Amino acid sequence: MQRFLNSQIARLLTLFICTFLFIPAFVHAQSPNVTTTVVDPAADQQLAMHTSARGDIASHPDVPLYRIVGTIDPAKRTWQATQTLTFRNQSGTSLSKLYFRLFPNLPDVGGSLTISSASVNGTSIAVKTEANRYLARLDLITPLTNGTQINVVLNFITTAPGKNGASWYGTLYQDGQTMALASAYPLLANNTNGVWDVAVPNTKGDLVTSTAAYYDVTVTAPSTHSIISTGTASSISNVGTSQIVRMVSGLQRDFALAATKLPSVNATVDGTKISVYYPIGKLTTGKAALKYASQSLHFYNTTYGQYPYNELDIVDLNAGSFEGVEFPGFILIEQDFFTNSSDFESLIIHEVAHQWFYGVIGNDVQNHAWVDEGFATYSQVLYQEALRGASAGTKEKNIFVADYNDLKAQKGDGAIDRPISTMSDYSYGVLTYSKAALYFDAIRTKIGAVKFTAAIRNYYTTNRYGLVDGMAFVRAAQNSCGCDLLPLYNQWVLAK
Ligand SMILES: [Zn+2]
Repeated sequence: MQRFLNSQIARLLTLFICTFLFIPAFVHAQSPNVTTTVVDPAADQQLAMHTSARGDIASHPDVPLYRIVGTIDPAKRTWQATQTLTFRNQSGTSLSKLYFRLFPNLPDVGGSLTISSASVNGTSIAVKTEANRYLARLDLITPLTNGTQINVVLNFITTAPGKNGASWYGTLYQDGQTMALASAYPLLANNTNGVWDVAVPNTKGDLVTSTAAYYDVTVTAPSTHSIISTGTASSISNVGTSQIVRMVSGLQRDFALAATKLPSVNATVDGTKISVYYPIGKLTTGKAALKYASQSLHFYNTTYGQYPYNELDIVDLNAGSFEGVEFPGFILIEQDFFTNSSDFESLIIHEVAHQWFYGVIGNDVQNHAWVDEGFATYSQVLYQEALRGASAGTKEKNIFVADYNDLKAQKGDGAIDRPISTMSDYSYGVLTYSKAALYFDAIRTKIGAVKFTAAIRNYYTTNRYGLVDGMAFVRAAQNSCGCDLLPLYNQWVLAK
């Protein structure tokens, strides 16, 4: 994601960018020795995967499944739904309670998410809130032993803010044309060895660190709007003035949803359909966004490894509070950038790169934000170099060099690897984006372009759908070069 800050920082950050979807359930194919018919909800999830990645569903049978059925009302700015989470405890210990994160309730997000009732395996249970309603806690009547699966049903209503967009985080917003509902449902908190991560996220950067899951979301909405989301629409039916759209996600770590009246253009690149929903009257820049997204998706496919989903949606939003924000298979772009930005291409290609770095390979976006932001930012250099030659790559890189030099002159150097809550807006922007990109450039300079690319491909293959820290790429690069890269890590990432 990239936020608008004050004018100086907004100018400075312009090139850092970011920081931040029918078929009825079908019968799962049976092995020859099995005679019973089993309906496997995960089989539907294959619809959202690229043909080359459909086997990944079978190898991830035990990820959480969110089934959400409800109604979107753009006029009231609401999403009212029933969410059924099927979740197996794989924490290694018994759990006496569950935590859900309610991102719309963060004061800077400016919306609300209220859970009216809950049940666990059919038994009603009280919902308690913590952290100024950011957290919902369910105290389990019976502890959930390790390896056990449960169904948690939550009835909820989310409301998006509808004015003063610049005052809010912006990814939950109704701008009159589009209602964006990013991370707008109760999302199970992360649990490591029985410890819940209940830290309230800092809104300077991306908010959501989460593990891969399956989403199966059905909404009833006015036929006047297009329903777009993470994943793929598996069925659309019309009932009077309403439509019922069912969407499946594939292996994704979050779910974003929008109802929009905006027009769209689309293209299919390497088997993935890219759609751009652009501001009314801005067809030319809509087509430009589609071109940039198509070029970058193809470049990343061939350089990093194939994007494993069959759709990518890019949606204009007039919130005025960010430049671009990435979600799985779904990107929000601020409307101003469709109108008058020389940095439009860099913004689009940065956000598309996040589909690899943050999307497929996840990381802790609050405590190690540089991991995905550094790769997304450095992807701008690699893209320019590949499309327009070495001098174009150097030109892009020199922007980050200048930013980093300015920081050192004005504020002094700083460690990249630290929680974003401990950084000023200025330091966050330069360290997390520019300096982190230059760290990856330092590795490429040391080991050469061929081994660097091989390292990224290995990193991508090894860590797909997982969560990494900053050392994961060090290991991949060391395997590629047969050399010691810890000195560079210490120098660039850890040293202040
Ligand atoms: Zn970014």
